[in-house]
Amino acid sequence: MTSKIAVIGSGFAGLAAATSLADKGHQVTVFEKNSSPGGRARHFTSGDFHFDMGPSWYWMPDVFEDYFARFGKKVSDYYTLKRLDPSYRVYFEDGPVDIPADFDELKALFESIEPGSGKQLEIFMDEAKTKYEIGMSKFVFKPSHTIMEFAELNIARDAMKLNLFKSFSAYARKHFSHPKLLQLLEFPVLFLGAKPEKTPALYSLMNYADSKLGTWYPMGGMSEIVKGMVALAEEKGVEFKYDANVETLVIRERAIKAVVVNGYEIECDAVVGAADYHHIDQNIVPKGFRQYDEKYWDKRTMSPSSLLYYLAVDKKVSGLLHHNLFFDTDFGKHAEAIYDTLEWPDNPLFYVCTPSKTDPSVAPEGKENVFILMPVAPGIKENDDTRDFYYELIMDRLEAHLGMDIRKHVTFKRSYAHKEFQHDYNAFKGNAYGLANTLDQTAFLKPKLKSKKIKNLYYAGQLTTPGPGVPPSLISGQVAADELNKLLPKAVAMSV
Ligand SMILES: Cc1cc2nc3c(=O)[nH]c(=O)nc-3n(C[C@H](O)[C@H](O)[C@H](O)COP(=O)(O)OP(=O)(O)OC[C@H]3O[C@@H](n4cnc5c(N)ncnc54)[C@H](O)[C@@H]3O)c2cc1C
Repeated sequence: MTSKIAVIGSGFAGLAAATSLADKGHQVTVFEKNSSPGGRARHFTSGDFHFDMGPSWYWMPDVFEDYFARFGKKVSDYYTLKRLDPSYRVYFEDGPVDIPADFDELKALFESIEPGSGKQLEIFMDEAKTKYEIGMSKFVFKPSHTIMEFAELNIARDAMKLNLFKSFSAYARKHFSHPKLLQLLEFPVLFLGAKPEKTPALYSLMNYADSKLGTWYPMGGMSEIVKGMVALAEEKGVEFKYDANVETLVIRERAIKAVVVNGYEIECDAVVGAADYHHIDQNIVPKGFRQYDEKYWDKRTMSPSSLLYYLAVDKKVSGLLHHNLFFDTDFGKHAEAIYDTLEWPDNPLFYVCTPSKTDPSVAPEGKENVFILMPVAPGIKENDDTRDFYYELIMDRLEAHLGMDIRKHVTFKRSYAHKEFQHDYNAFKGNAYGLANTLDQTAFLKPKLKSKKIKNLYYAGQLTTPGPGVPPSLISGQVAADELNKLLPKAVAMSV
């Protein structure tokens, strides 16, 4: 029997959930409030410039490959990947360092910065590999309903190997002491989650993803992933409704009977809520059926928001690679401003992405497509003056490092921060990357995938398990779909 499923949101989680359920033979409609799919990974064009609006690092290629393989497909059926080498460039106070894709070269680089650290890196990465393998095979696909799922998996035994209860910061310092090396290892957790002191050392698996699995780029831009996923969803029969704002749910006998979209009731048998969890729980679900209250949400540690600039530059900018991290200021102070004091930083770190270094399709010849990201605390006040102030500050530092004029050559500029995250995605406190991966917000301690009060509502996306980032969101959608499918009457599966 075919069930009618409504999926709220067309980000990675919504697309993965919709495709997985359609593949099981259900009739799936995705309702997306914006006029295009992809959520935080949407794109826009200005003249001949093509800007990815959100994610730019393609890490964990295995997760994407496994996703398409689930439907008998390959990544290469939908887009072409290129491995970046060097993976990225880091500007320290005393100049740039390129991070090679080759692990032996990376060890040599570490050794040149801190004698003995090449060997330590090998040990660190071996442990990170174990975490990645245990994490990916045993943990991330768990729905995390209860701690019992983890008890079955000998978590006590694996917890030691996974360093679940040790902080990332202490763990990294056991192996390395040079501040440059610590910054290199800590940046993935800082940008995507929380302070390294509060993040479980488990997340050194991100370093394995970075250094061993590599940094990749889908030619045409990150939006190619979205295009590929939408194409696959449509092949499976998923219907997409854009400019379709889900306002509330019609509930009878603890079950959703319809979603209310732009004022109209549309009947359904079940819902996957793949927009921001807080928004669905507090604004879409009627009172009395909410999973949590505002107090609960207020106590959550959100991942950072971001101040972004999309720039078209009418000349080539030398000194930049595809990915560039500007770590030429105090890392700890900026982290404090994001996570402790919740204020605008004095001397921010920032990240510059120049995809036109790899991909001629994202900017006209001889020109550059530049995306700047500065991580900032969620929920803080900002206005045009703040944006202008940080633009000048970042440009001063960029021009000083690169020894060239850039500002004068900017022919298009768009900024994006809390206000837009809230307006465009209903993002709680204007967060960019969902809920932080802190120790008390990991696995079964995250907001639950299944509603306790509504029988046929499942949540997916970066505020629930397994966490923020494109690969986890992709996994979240699959897990939510598989859990929901267990409840539904069996349908005839679509053939590939
Ligand atoms: C600037 C930035 C840079 C990032 N960089 C990286 C990176 O380099 N690598 C990486 O792996 N990750 C990165 N991330 C994180 C990654 O993009 C996210 O974790 C992921 O895209 C989240 O997917 P999602 O499906 O959970 O949510 P979303 O993409 O937000 O999708 C939710 C969708 O729900 C829709 N919606 C909301 N409310 C409603 C409603 N009422 N009715 C209908 N639809 C609704 C929204 O419009 C949206 O389309 C970055 C994020 C940002 C913002």
